[in-house]
Amino acid sequence: MTRLLACIATGFLTCFAAVGPARSEYPDRPITMIVPFAAGGPTDTVARIVGEQMGKTLGQAVVVENVSGAGGTTGITRGAQSKPDGYTIMMGHMGTHGAAPALYPTLKYDPTKDFAPVGLVAGTAILIIAKKDFPATNLKEFVAYLKKNPDKVNEAHAGVGSVSFTTCTMLQSILGTKTARVAYRGTGPSLNDLVAGQVDFGCDQIVNVVSQVQAGTIKAFAVASPQRSAVLKDVPTTKEAGLPEFQVSAWNAVFAPKDTPKDVMAKLNGALVKALDDGATRTRLLELGSIIPDRAGRSPEALQALVEKEVARWTPILKAAGATVN
Ligand code: ASP
Repeated sequence: MTRLLACIATGFLTCFAAVGPARSEYPDRPITMIVPFAAGGPTDTVARIVGEQMGKTLGQAVVVENVSGAGGTTGITRGAQSKPDGYTIMMGHMGTHGAAPALYPTLKYDPTKDFAPVGLVAGTAILIIAKKDFPATNLKEFVAYLKKNPDKVNEAHAGVGSVSFTTCTMLQSILGTKTARVAYRGTGPSLNDLVAGQVDFGCDQIVNVVSQVQAGTIKAFAVASPQRSAVLKDVPTTKEAGLPEFQVSAWNAVFAPKDTPKDVMAKLNGALVKALDDGATRTRLLELGSIIPDRAGRSPEALQALVEKEVARWTPILKAAGATVN
């Protein structure tokens, strides 16, 4: 405003040169949300639920684009390198923004430096799951079978760097097992193959597996958190089931590329905060077993701190497990 008054005072032409054409109000067209995994998986599900509601507040659709590959790092690399104008944002998670740097020494982004964090969306428990006719009825039997028959079973995961890969790397490292591991473009497709019995077991985010566990089309041996989940009350914790060392959880969060303007970031965060207060959105997320962050936990600062903590936490664990690629 001061600038505008100053140029009016100095003359009309100067005024136009200094102010330029009016910038239209953000957003004036749809926003792309990159999901770095295949459709139908947990990241995709959470992104669609929250994106739909954010779009209502922003007055423009938030359109999910699935850019899968390399455990989520392909899509996140594309997102990090996109124009920082608020029209490309991404749904990252504990893998893409916590574990990936330890797994890919040549990773093209730094989770702690190359993003403008929008906010945390959901915490998600991790479950050890298996096909329904896996020859074990509980975690102890599962562990015993895995140790005895490592060459007979294969684990399905969403690619090196994904949450499923990272958490099952930790599990196999604790157990001292080395089974075959099959990479998918997301745990949506890997879950389909688990239901069909084409793969044997995996570690997955609760939001992906609740309905299949409830329907009995797959088995869940344990949830790796301190408490049972309210939506899967019959599934014991790893502590109850005899493997207390395996404690791990994951999260999903929205990021924009670094240097996204502050006013745009404020709108994006505001829309996310509001979406997480919306009754129907909350119900959908809670029914899938998500833990919705409180107001303080939804701030960009809280997400930045979480990313830094996660990178520091996962780097030694994954290096010790010898999981690094290239
Ligand atoms: N979140 C899953 C994983 O990292 C992948 C997915 O969302 O499909 O294992």
